Amino acid sequence: MTQANIGVVGLAVMGSNLARNLASREGNTVAIFNRSYEKTQTLLDAHPEAEFVAAKDYAEFAASLSKPRTAIIMVQAGKGTDAVIDALTEVFEPGDIIVDGGNALFTDTIRREKAVRETGINFVGAGISGGEEGALNGPSIMPGGSDESWVTLGPILKSIAAVAEGEPCVTHVGHDGAGHFVKMIHNGIEYADMQLIAEAYDLIRRGTGKTPAEISAIFSEWNEGELESYLIEITAEVLKQVDAETGKPLVDVILDQAGSKGTGVWTVQTSLDLGIPVSGIAEAVFARSLSSKPAQRAAASSLPGPSETISVADPDAFIENVRLALYASKVIAYSQGFDAIVAGAEQYGWDIKKGEIAKIWRGGCIIRARFLNRITEAYAENPGLVALVTAPFFVDVMARAQDAWRSVVSDAAKAGIPAPAFSSSLAYYDGLRADRLPAALVQGQRDFFGAHTYKRTDKDGTFHTLWSGDRTEIEAVDTH
Ligand code: NAP
Repeated sequence: MTQANIGVVGLAVMGSNLARNLASREGNTVAIFNRSYEKTQTLLDAHPEAEFVAAKDYAEFAASLSKPRTAIIMVQAGKGTDAVIDALTEVFEPGDIIVDGGNALFTDTIRREKAVRETGINFVGAGISGGEEGALNGPSIMPGGSDESWVTLGPILKSIAAVAEGEPCVTHVGHDGAGHFVKMIHNGIEYADMQLIAEAYDLIRRGTGKTPAEISAIFSEWNEGELESYLIEITAEVLKQVDAETGKPLVDVILDQAGSKGTGVWTVQTSLDLGIPVSGIAEAVFARSLSSKPAQRAAASSLPGPSETISVADPDAFIENVRLALYASKVIAYSQGFDAIVAGAEQYGWDIKKGEIAKIWRGGCIIRARFLNRITEAYAENPGLVALVTAPFFVDVMARAQDAWRSVVSDAAKAGIPAPAFSSSLAYYDGLRADRLPAALVQGQRDFFGAHTYKRTDKDGTFHTLWSGDRTEIEAVDTH
């Protein structure tokens, strides 16, 4: 039997495209296996040029792989992944490598890595972004796992990854669940980016009365400048699409209830646990939830709104303000996402190179964008950067954008146009840069009702005011 150097289990859209991508690269022979043989046969029939080595069961699949056996699983996340891992650990041997390329929750990956490691087999959780097109032509890949597995896997993944400015969009992110953690944050940022773009569209449409086709042209123009990104590019495509049936702009025919597959929720839940305010991402998740509550929206549709409508005297100036507000809010979403990566790395003991992550997001993935280079540069200049938004390049962006941002958020509030991601990002920015926050009052309230104690600005220690006695009395509290 021909020996393959890499295998793929799971031949639905992602797995078959990834298998074809692997087979198209010099030096690879690809073994394939799917639970039901029909998908295997379909792939064999459609792509004889790939010269796949097809297996009918797991034992045959294992026998068709050269050692160390390396297999990428692309099956339904959750139970499907667990079933395939169990089956592969039966037929693989110590030193072999199982890669889960699906969208797993990183804590599941940590659990699976620990269990599989006990058999002597390497387990790698690899986030793969770029959808079906990326899987075929070059995704951005975020692998975790051991250093040992990276020696074999690294060259294979480099051969199939997207290439940005001559560099493959893959790096060994860190051990066990680090890859899937970073992929989760990538998806969270994607949620924020999409919501910000949607808010920009809505403001321009309601502020200037421009048609979707005209706004498509504005996005195309933005895509020539500092906002250049895949999401801006596809937004222009979606906005210019006309519905074949009605002749209306397609965006006006699509039901305004956004779905999700849950990775945004994971990002927010994880960040809450880590104590990281990812407000832009959270607002994007909440906005999708709100949109998908038709009964509540219908019941609330007659609630009073503002007397003012938006009145834009100079449409070009307004559009430029929206562009700047979008850019500033986007910087905040990335800054918050990187804060979550830093906190996750600390919590789980991963050595994640932030600049490398920005680099591998430059190509192949959904949030690929020109300004990711600036993030890489910011971390190269200062690896200990405490908040991305404080890097000199981004300070300049904020200086340039903040007046426009404030103006757009206030226009939106006055006119009753919801812009939750724009406005929460601005509130976060102002909170972060404030000399003093009303958190002092919150501490006072907490001490009043719960004796939760507070610290003082003028001396060390922990204190409690005797609220029920003479309130001038305070006591130092021993916290040891
Ligand atoms: P999918 O619809 O998520 O899963 C279908 C595949 O899983 C089929 O090959 C199916 O085999 C297999 N499967 C399900 N349960 C199984 C079990 N118990 N044992 C063995 N195989 C089982 O496929 P997909 O859309 O190609 O996605 C694959 C993975 O990539 C998922 O984890 C997904 O979240 C992730 N992902 C998808 C995208 C995307 O754009 N679609 C992007 C990034 C990542 P049968 O044919 O026998 O039913």
